[in-house]
Amino acid sequence: MNGYGTLTDGLAAALDVRTGVSVREIEWRDSLVRAAADDETFEADLLVSSLSLAVLKRGAITFAPGLPAVYRAAIEGLDFGLSEKSVMDFEAPFWPRDRDVIIRASEDGCFSLFFNNHYPASGDAFLTARVLGRNVPAFVELSDEAATNQVMDALKDMFGAGLPEPRRVKRSRWLHDPNSAGAYSVDRLGVPSFDHRSVLAVPVSDRFAFAGEHTHPCYPSTVHGAYLTAKRAAYALLG
Ligand SMILES: Cc1cc2nc3c(=O)[nH]c(=O)nc-3n(C[C@H](O)[C@H](O)[C@H](O)COP(=O)(O)OP(=O)(O)OC[C@H]3O[C@@H](n4cnc5c(N)ncnc54)[C@H](O)[C@@H]3O)c2cc1C
Repeated sequence: MNGYGTLTDGLAAALDVRTGVSVREIEWRDSLVRAAADDETFEADLLVSSLSLAVLKRGAITFAPGLPAVYRAAIEGLDFGLSEKSVMDFEAPFWPRDRDVIIRASEDGCFSLFFNNHYPASGDAFLTARVLGRNVPAFVELSDEAATNQVMDALKDMFGAGLPEPRRVKRSRWLHDPNSAGAYSVDRLGVPSFDHRSVLAVPVSDRFAFAGEHTHPCYPSTVHGAYLTAKRAAYALLG
C-alpha cells in the first residue's frame, strides 16, 4: 500500500510544485493575482487557493482586497474537526484479524477511540488508533510514551492485561501543525453546512477561486471531494 502519495505524485509529475513555501498574503485584483510568501512573491493570471479551512479561519492569510462578506461568513460558519492517529506495529495480531475496525465505547458514552486494523488489507500487524474530537487537545499534549500508554490501556480494557508492547509507534500532531491545525471541516452542531460550502464553491472573481474539501457541498472532508473542487475551480477560471 503506497497511500495517497501515488495519486499526488501522478498529478504533480508535469507541474512545477514548490513545497516549504508559506503564503502570507493573497492579492486578487482585476488585472492580476499575487501570492506573497516570506521571501518571494508569485504573480499569475489565475489563482486557486486550497488552503485548509483552519488556516483561513485563523486569519493567517491577508487578502487584498479583503474577502467579500459572504465568503467571510461562510468561512466563519463552518467548523474544523480534530482527529489524530497513533500507528502501532506489533509482532503479531492479538485482536480479531478479520475486523477492519475495532471500536471502544468510553464511559461517557462516546466512541472516544477506535482502531483501524490493517491486517485484512496488508497482512501487517498494524493497528491505527484514532483519537477524535474533544479528546484530541489533551492527547496531543501527552509525551509519546504517555500517549502510547493511554492507547495500550484502552486495548487492555478490551483484550485483557498482559498484551505485548508495540515494536514501533508513529503518531500525528496535526493540531499543532500550523498548515493544518486539525483534520478536516465539519458541520457546526445543528447547522447545515451546504450553503456555506456552496458559497465557497463560487469563484471570488474571474481570476481567483477557492478549492479544498471544505468547498465541496456534497463530498466535504474527503480526498475525492478535495480533488473534485480543484478541477471545478480550474475549469471555472479557465472558462
Ligand atoms: C485522520 C484523518 C483521516 C482521514 N481519512 C480519510 C479517508 O479515509 N478518506 C477520505 O477521503 N478522506 C479522509 N480524510 C480527509 C482528507 O485527508 C482531507 O479531506 C483532504 O486531504 C483535504 O484536502 P485539501 O487539499 O482540501 O486540504 P489539505 O490536504 O489540508 O491541503 C492544504 C494544503 O495547504 C498547505 N498550506 C497550509 N497553509 C499554507 C500556507 N500558508 N502557505 C502555503 N501552503 C499552505 C498545507 O500544507 C496543505 O498541503 C482524513 C483526514 C484525516 C485528518
